[in-house]
Amino acid sequence: MDVTSCFSATYGEARQKFLQACEAAGATVFSHRNPNSGPDGGELFADTAWIGPFDASRVLVASSATHGVEGHCGSGCQIGHLRAGDYENLPADTAVLLVHAINPYGFAWSRRVTEDNVDFNRNHIDFDEPVPANPNYGSVHAMLVPDDWQGAARQAAEDAIKEFIAENGQMHFQACVTGGQYEFADGLFYGGVRPTWSRHTLERIIADRLRGRRAVAVIDYHTGLGPYGHGELICVHEPGSEALNRARAWYGPDVTSPAEGSSASAVVEGSIADTYERQLSEETVLTVVAIEYGTLPVLDVLNALRADNWLHLYGDVDSELGREIKAQMRAAFYQDQDDWKSMIFGRSEEITRQALTGLRQV
Ligand SMILES: [Zn+2]
Repeated sequence: MDVTSCFSATYGEARQKFLQACEAAGATVFSHRNPNSGPDGGELFADTAWIGPFDASRVLVASSATHGVEGHCGSGCQIGHLRAGDYENLPADTAVLLVHAINPYGFAWSRRVTEDNVDFNRNHIDFDEPVPANPNYGSVHAMLVPDDWQGAARQAAEDAIKEFIAENGQMHFQACVTGGQYEFADGLFYGGVRPTWSRHTLERIIADRLRGRRAVAVIDYHTGLGPYGHGELICVHEPGSEALNRARAWYGPDVTSPAEGSSASAVVEGSIADTYERQLSEETVLTVVAIEYGTLPVLDVLNALRADNWLHLYGDVDSELGREIKAQMRAAFYQDQDDWKSMIFGRSEEITRQALTGLRQV
């Protein structure tokens, strides 16, 4: 199989390839229509595919595009596994649920966020409770979002960031920016004030397809952190929990934990693991991991996010600068190169097999 041909240049191409691969594999597809449209006017869907017995008590879930533009990677892996037959000959009593483009708006528009400028992986808090405070974000917000991108305000922002990093270190800067915040709707890593369309959709998918199963293993595909082509497995279950121990038993001791300080990721609030836990953990043995693939250095990735945030606040997507920024976004989250795709897919094959082997032991 040609791995590189499984990846797509656009959301529309990815969806078409995914649906074709599902049909060829005999998967059962359900589609959830997002009310928005893509930049080409095309319709947007989160699609799910079920492979294996409908009454299986063990289910592997592989989910793409939690962070929109990162879907180039996750979709490519899902399509690759379908074409390679990796979801055929499953262990007894086991099924696979693919969630393709849970944030289709972000995928189509080359954004990391949803249609409401929300970071979907910070949106899973309990909104009936007071939202988590992140005073650190307030200290960097102004330098992240200057009101021009090519003039004096931008230059002042760059100088302020350099000074902040010199004083506090890059990891602290990254933690301030990326931990999640619920105060600045025009800012980065904003968790929102209510559940997004993508969260409602995920809740429906979990309720319809996963409730009552004995064991569920989730692999959520991400990009943008870590060394080029490297796949870090991140587990946000609590340190010392059975779920974190199980993740390490299945995938190896190098599974990282942001709470333990061993991950390239900062500790984040409201990740999708919270929704899976809320809906499933009482009766299901649940093991959630994120696979985080490296692309470019972290400051390049953050700069692409700042540019994209500026573009949607103040700029014109349909201008030369707009197209430049969109290319910058794609490069930050999707390295359109054969070696990168091979590295991505090889690691994905490994963890898919590990997850299926682990599920058998539950
Ligand atoms: Zn991500």
